[in-house]
Amino acid sequence: MLKEAFLEIFPEKPVPTFNQIVYSSRIRFYNAYASLRNSEITIKLSKNYENVNRSVVIGVLQSLLSRIYRKKIVTQRMREAGIFLEQQRKEYRPRIKNETPQELKESFQRINLEYFDNLLQMPLLNWGRDSYRRLGQYVGTFNLIRISRRLEKSPPYVLDYIMYHEMLHLQRDRNRKKHAKVHTKEFNTLEESFKLVKDAKRWIKENLSRRRYF
Ligand SMILES: [Zn+2]
Repeated sequence: MLKEAFLEIFPEKPVPTFNQIVYSSRIRFYNAYASLRNSEITIKLSKNYENVNRSVVIGVLQSLLSRIYRKKIVTQRMREAGIFLEQQRKEYRPRIKNETPQELKESFQRINLEYFDNLLQMPLLNWGRDSYRRLGQYVGTFNLIRISRRLEKSPPYVLDYIMYHEMLHLQRDRNRKKHAKVHTKEFNTLEESFKLVKDAKRWIKENLSRRRYF
């Protein structure tokens, strides 16, 4: 992939030695770094790039390479990567100024009382994109629970189920070791203790997607 990225911007140059790309979970957001030492190039990318379209990743690599070689150039892929990053930034930045959506607040309070003895501090709560697959997400960096807008129209117990799941992350992920598994057996057992878990899962399967994740 690195070679491909390189040859597209420097077709004439001899290809340098590339070390294997490092995907690191310590690198936040979609940050990326490159270094040139002893004519070897090392690239470190946020682990988030593992799920990103190949062409976008190549665009990111090209930006890094053009910076290293001080060549001002913009390829189509670099433009695509720029658009991708801009979208991600918009989505990641919690809109703190806006009021917390009432429905999410109420769902959080219901679940907190029923399952957590009211002990959890309310994180930032927000609606995310209208996705039928990515239903919820806990973003530790911003202490934010984001729920798919698709659930605005779902029965309350479905919203509550996803909220409960993300609150388990809120409660547990902070003390989690880096690289540790998120949905452990223990996590799944706790998750199953949600009262309407079966109905919620069925509703999601029938109305949204089988391949959902949260
Ligand atoms: Zn999860």
